[in-house]
Amino acid sequence: MTDRRSRNLTLLLALGLLLMTVPMQESIHQLRPHVFDPERKTRRASAINVGPMPAVIAALGGFRTVAADMLWLRVERDWHGGNWWALPSLLDGVTQLDPHFILAWQVYGWHLAYNLHAEAETKVDKRYYLDGGIRALEGAVDANPDNWEMIFELGWTLFDRAHDMHRAAEYFYRADQFPEAKSYTTRLYYRCFERTLDIPRLVEALEYAKNRHTDPYSPDDVQHQVIVSDNYRFWITDNHLEDRDKHREIIARENTARAQRSVDFYLYPDNPYWDVCPHCGLPSPEGSEFCSAYGHPMKPSSGSSRSPGESRPPAEATSI
Ligand SMILES: [Zn+2]
Repeated sequence: MTDRRSRNLTLLLALGLLLMTVPMQESIHQLRPHVFDPERKTRRASAINVGPMPAVIAALGGFRTVAADMLWLRVERDWHGGNWWALPSLLDGVTQLDPHFILAWQVYGWHLAYNLHAEAETKVDKRYYLDGGIRALEGAVDANPDNWEMIFELGWTLFDRAHDMHRAAEYFYRADQFPEAKSYTTRLYYRCFERTLDIPRLVEALEYAKNRHTDPYSPDDVQHQVIVSDNYRFWITDNHLEDRDKHREIIARENTARAQRSVDFYLYPDNPYWDVCPHCGLPSPEGSEFCSAYGHPMKPSSGSSRSPGESRPPAEATSI
């Protein structure tokens, strides 16, 4: 009896500690009444890792998921109230309290890597939120190593947002080993090597994709085979592996997408057909001294007075 009473007291104390953070949150809310606060740059949420203290989490014991749900209600309220900058600390709290709350992890990573990344105005801020989103999803995978969706989510964010293609490929491959993984995971695995023109790995990954999802009675498998056969024919049967124009198109498209996300250009060190301008990321014929798009010097060491990122790729190359 006294045992139970003292446990209840501990719980009460823990909830009290948790609720103590509320006034602080309220003052943060008042500081950031809405997303379009003109001064928001000077008030950037600094609190990606300020969730509940480990002691609070330990004291909550079996009631952690209840506390996580309570915090989640606040996430929903702040979400609909447009209070985006307060969400990372709340989401961090929810996922620390309940590390198996998949939806909370997904929203956490996505909110940082997509919404706040898009909303941030400087390259430094964008990198901060993108890195934060990736770190959140890495934490999610560590806590849920048997959840293919979470592994896919990390792969997708690395692929679509960070353009870290080789790491994305690792996670797509890992997610693809789960029986419940969808067939697009298999195809995204070779898309990573397509985007980086990593030809040996592209060929290997296409062969791998051809041998996956082969059930002739499953509509999804049939569709998968049609898409992969198409891509296989394009790259290997029709031998576009040595197609200079296709390479140029991929370089321009990939580096344009990177510019839109404020990610550094990929310079395609193994591509044999084009030199890639380190300033604008666009391809120029091999051995060019100046890039054909903007006249940037192609060698970074040749003492240019122009700063990188001064120019943007032309608008017609913006399709992804
Ligand atoms: Zn250039």
